[in-house]
Amino acid sequence: AAANGSGGKGFEVPKVEVRFTKLFINGQFVDAVSGKTFETRDPRTGEVIANIAEGDKADVDLAVKAAREAFDNGPWPRMSGYERGRILYKFADLIDQHVEELAMLDTVDAGKLFLVGKVWDIPGAAHLLRYYAGAADKIHGETLKMAQRMHGYTLKEPVGVVGHIVPWNYPTTMFFFKVSPALAAGCTVVVKPAEQTPLSALFYAHLAREAGVPDGVLNVVPGFGPTAGAAVASHMDVDKLSFTGSTEVGRLVMKAAAESNLKPISLELGGKSPVVIFDDADLDMAVKLVNFATYTNKVRVHDLPCCQVSDHLVFSSVITSLSLSLSLSLSLSLSAMSKGEICVAGSRVYVQEGIYDAFVKKAAELAKKSVVGDPFNPRVNQGPQVDKDQYEKVLKYIDIGMREGATLVTGGKPCGDKGYYIEPTIFTDVKDDMSIVQDEIFGPVMALMKFKTVEEVIQKANNTRYGLAAGIVTKNIDIANTVSRSIRAGAIWINCYLAFDPDAPFGGYKMSGFGKDMGMDGLEKYLQTKTVVTPLYNTPW
Ligand code: NAD
Repeated sequence: AAANGSGGKGFEVPKVEVRFTKLFINGQFVDAVSGKTFETRDPRTGEVIANIAEGDKADVDLAVKAAREAFDNGPWPRMSGYERGRILYKFADLIDQHVEELAMLDTVDAGKLFLVGKVWDIPGAAHLLRYYAGAADKIHGETLKMAQRMHGYTLKEPVGVVGHIVPWNYPTTMFFFKVSPALAAGCTVVVKPAEQTPLSALFYAHLAREAGVPDGVLNVVPGFGPTAGAAVASHMDVDKLSFTGSTEVGRLVMKAAAESNLKPISLELGGKSPVVIFDDADLDMAVKLVNFATYTNKVRVHDLPCCQVSDHLVFSSVITSLSLSLSLSLSLSLSAMSKGEICVAGSRVYVQEGIYDAFVKKAAELAKKSVVGDPFNPRVNQGPQVDKDQYEKVLKYIDIGMREGATLVTGGKPCGDKGYYIEPTIFTDVKDDMSIVQDEIFGPVMALMKFKTVEEVIQKANNTRYGLAAGIVTKNIDIANTVSRSIRAGAIWINCYLAFDPDAPFGGYKMSGFGKDMGMDGLEKYLQTKTVVTPLYNTPW
């Protein structure tokens, strides 16, 4: 699908084989108890890729039972952290050995750029897994200085059976945000992937088994939210729930957790993140940064030197793309964009009045250069929205923006004759209370707004129910420090955007959720603290 005509020639669409379509429970691929299946579709064409076993409550019960048994009586929580780490390192090595196949699965399932999956998502998952594999033997409590003659210490213990419910926008990354620290902590898990993107999760289950993760430790139950997802959230034998998805569904799973066994939960929810550009910014860099922040759902960072993924990833991405084609590397780095399906999309852009007009002009020029088309094509910057619902939702918001009185500067239309492609879109003359400023669109739509003073922009940036991330572009360190402290959001990127690292905790403020993924905070949430106290010799008790 050469959606806008410029991305359709001179590349080969590989044949993608789907090897795993059944539920993965207790170390086996099995049919659903009901025998039902559901279709997963290719957003490039809308065609069916595969029929996947459809898990629901009965299957979740079986998966939780297997995870419970593995936790209560199996070797995983009992083996040394070092041994668990060795198995997780092996799992990561197996991911490295299947990078192409895994990237293809995410491309046909989610419409993700194949090249970026190959150099970022999949190697990034292996990197994250190795980070936690290395942490598995460094989990320990503290000795306590207690009053009187008592000896006290704490033990850090795995929380038990963990339910993971994940969204479709990063099928691989979200899976490993959740599963890597939980497994390192010694938990056993039941993963409910998004119904739109079940393919890679099942492949990861296979690789985990190959690596030696014992039966029952990692279970994957594809299915729909109100059936399989709800069964995980309300299960009496799930000890902890970690959810990533919309704020709306986050509210439902929190309620289900409260009304069942009061399981602790963590929520990574939606966002509507501001990017604030001050007059002193390097205009070209700021335009590129915002383009990247709004449209991408993938990371290509080497044109933004301060945006770092790990050295390993930077090297692997540069080497891989160069080995494929130099022009490819340049075109991706010039406008590292995709389709706005990212929770931290910097889609509210505030530009100081001195550079506003020039910024709008350049931002529109860059957006127009974006090549929209088949995500297997290495020249393409932006693939299709994940499915028909999402495509229609984005177009509906574009329509609302025009009806609410915003000015459409560029984009605004679907492109291509099949599949779910939408032009990168920019609105100006946007007011703070418009839906396109307040609601998460989850598509390639940017709202540009003008501001005068630091105080004004802090107030505007915080005028949202969300608090996931924010970007600040300025050379003035006093302004950068003041604004970064004043914005209520879980991640602040100064003169960069989307700067993720396994060691950097990530998670929201306000209605963007609570609890962190990644970093040591991400491990902590799968541990609980036990306090042990005993009198010392001759202490009367
Ligand atoms: P969604 O909330 O519709 O679905 C997320 C998951 O929840 C899916 O697996 C779905 O099947 C399941 N689900 C749906 N209804 C359920 C129910 N009643 N009970 C239990 N589970 C249920 O979200 P989505 O459309 O898949 O993903 C997009 C959303 O995810 C966006 O809002 C985005 O911002 C958010 N997101 C957040 C982060 C983050 O880290 N904060 C990361 C990625 C995506």
